[in-house]
Amino acid sequence: MKIKSITARPELDSRGEWTIEVRLKLQNGLESVASVPQGKSRGSSEAVYVKPNIAIRNIEKIIAPALKGLHAGNQNFIDHCLLKLDGTKNKSKLGANATLGVSVAAAKAAALSQNIPLWKHIAHLLEYKRKRDDFPKLFVNVINGGLHTKNNLDFQEYLIIPKSKNISESVKIALTLYKKLGEYLGQHFGKDATGLGDEGGFAPNLDDNLEPFRILTHVAKLSHLENKIQFGLDAAASNIKKSPAALSKLYAELKIKYKLHYLEDPYKEKDFKNFTKLNQAIGKNTLLCGDDLTTTNVELMKKAHAAKSINSIIIKPNQIGTLTETLAAIEQAKKWGWKVAVSHRSGETQDDFIADLAYGSYAYGLKLGAPARGERVAKYNRLLEIDQEN
Ligand code: PEP
Ligand code: MG
Repeated sequence: MKIKSITARPELDSRGEWTIEVRLKLQNGLESVASVPQGKSRGSSEAVYVKPNIAIRNIEKIIAPALKGLHAGNQNFIDHCLLKLDGTKNKSKLGANATLGVSVAAAKAAALSQNIPLWKHIAHLLEYKRKRDDFPKLFVNVINGGLHTKNNLDFQEYLIIPKSKNISESVKIALTLYKKLGEYLGQHFGKDATGLGDEGGFAPNLDDNLEPFRILTHVAKLSHLENKIQFGLDAAASNIKKSPAALSKLYAELKIKYKLHYLEDPYKEKDFKNFTKLNQAIGKNTLLCGDDLTTTNVELMKKAHAAKSINSIIIKPNQIGTLTETLAAIEQAKKWGWKVAVSHRSGETQDDFIADLAYGSYAYGLKLGAPARGERVAKYNRLLEIDQEN
């Protein structure tokens, strides 16, 4: 299982932006490939990406020679070597895109060498012994707004969450509602309303920011799914001009009218105070989630925990840049009783790693976009495949 070589090449993400693919070869002849996603509504504390050509150079000239000969199964050691080689607090020397690609490729190679699925290798890294008998809930982004579209909705992601932990049933619920929603938007708002945003959800122009939930409630009834889904919202409020007071008013309405189950980034990323107020008000029966607030970074998570700002967290491996740090963030969140949702980025690749990460880390949820566009569908298909592997 010793590393023989690591190379990288440029590849395109789902927005047609350049990113990187990392290829790791082992002395035993096996090889793995990992592609790196890219966000658009990024938190300012996320680990730093360097330009793809620089990331590739860093991988081939700095990382590969240093990791050659190391045991791919020793994830902790490999990731600490990456941290040491980088030497900065935010991966600004090597680039979090470079370190994450290598880190994930090592985990994939280790799983291949042991002839076990990646999720099982991740569960072993976390020393989980109990067998998982359910699936992460799907957080399905069916209407897109904010920075992920050019429409007039301020909020970024209108989510449905199928109320099933059985993966095939969850996928069927998501598909049925997504298709019915497309038909409904086309019939009532015209063909233009059926264009898609970056995460595969529809991107209509609508009268106001809550109209998507009125439409979704109606479409859920038409599909006889009103008891089978819950609603969620990623406001991504760092990109919204409205005042905290105006936003709070909308959230109160959402909570009452639509029984919002999940609310991510309701205020700007440094506004811990307003998060805390909202958590006190609705945190008992709503998941109040940090994304830009916490950026998969244990130091920021400690701040949020001390202030009681959230009760759940988004985990995006590329916000921090290594698998070991990602798993540490998951472990820490769970110790505090926070619900964990692993997440894709708006600029995705065909890499389905996050499906294994969500399943293998026993995450509560997986935020994976709509069941449309190849890069999103890859994650749905991987979950269905994991179902067969069990
Ligand atoms: C998000 O904000 O949760 C998200 C997935 O968007 P991006 O990848 O653009 O940060
Ligand atoms: Mg978010």
